[in-house]
Amino acid sequence: MSSSTNPTIVSDFAAARFRSPGQQAFNLAVSTAKKLALACCLLVPALGLPAHAAAPKAATQGPAFYRMALGKFEVTALSDGTHPFPVHTVLTELSTDGKIIPADQVSPGAVDARLAESKLSVPVAGSINAFLVNTGAKLILIDSGAGSLYGECCGHLLENLKAAGYQPEQVDDIYLTHLHADHVGGIAPNGKMAFPNAVIHVSKVDADYWLSEKNEKEAPSLLKSMFDGDRASLKPYSDAGKLKPFDYGSPLSPGITPLAAPGHTPGHSFYSVESEGEKLLVWGDVVHVAPVQFPDPHVTVAYDSDAKNAESAREAVFSDAAQKGYWIAAAHISFPGLGHVGSKDGHFYWIPANYEAGPVVTK
Ligand SMILES: [Zn+2]
Ligand SMILES: [Zn+2]
Repeated sequence: MSSSTNPTIVSDFAAARFRSPGQQAFNLAVSTAKKLALACCLLVPALGLPAHAAAPKAATQGPAFYRMALGKFEVTALSDGTHPFPVHTVLTELSTDGKIIPADQVSPGAVDARLAESKLSVPVAGSINAFLVNTGAKLILIDSGAGSLYGECCGHLLENLKAAGYQPEQVDDIYLTHLHADHVGGIAPNGKMAFPNAVIHVSKVDADYWLSEKNEKEAPSLLKSMFDGDRASLKPYSDAGKLKPFDYGSPLSPGITPLAAPGHTPGHSFYSVESEGEKLLVWGDVVHVAPVQFPDPHVTVAYDSDAKNAESAREAVFSDAAQKGYWIAAAHISFPGLGHVGSKDGHFYWIPANYEAGPVVTK
């Protein structure tokens, strides 16, 4: 194709006569590139080459970590995986006479309707999140995922920790919100210590409850399976003198304080993480199914040790977090589980963190 048949190229050359030598050189380069591009477009179909080669499907996700700054601290959310959450069998409600009833039985169809509002249906992929706090002086992991206790779906915390740039040997302390399998299992997958230099901290109330054989015998069948997992996970650390149950009332490290939030388990704890006037509340198992429990905080879960207290704790922290506007780090809200609680006309909702590509800059 000659340039005289292309009005764009002709006008480029015409205009070049009235421009500086530098501009003329640039315009010539542009017009040459245009000619080459035109030639390529014409040649490819003529040679019979396909426009796109078929690429193999990747199927996998990228490493699951997400970082944010909190004052001088750097917080990294780590995914342990997602598991198909059995919403219908797990969500419950308390009747006025104190009985625990499947939520679906109380209001048939209500759970599915709530899920549909969020374009979800059963089974819902339930996130299991843990949070790494780098205070500048210490590396502290809050919760640890399920390790080997939930099967193939989960136990990915270690690979995501490494992808986030850390080694398990660097973790100084692990703070557990409570001793359910999906929070404690990751400290010792298959009974082997995964964090050889870490000290494990959990409320004395939860340690006393879940390490008691008497409590195991008296526990409802749904909770019995937790006791074995707890013992197996904690044993290598307690044998090494690295299990340190705490009483509430003082910080475990500068800026990080455990708060009693009983109900989901007897010694369920929040961790208040504060730096330079910024606050993040790591709230453990306040919410299991966000699209259902934000609009209706009365919905409980079958494995709450004390559903009434769990419900009260949820309503109180929703109200406090919405009013004060601090960050939330949630174990079971869609990864990374970082965000805020909003409220409007007496109803609560979740405001997920706005993604920022970084770099994450601490104060
Ligand atoms: Zn739990
Ligand atoms: Zn949990």
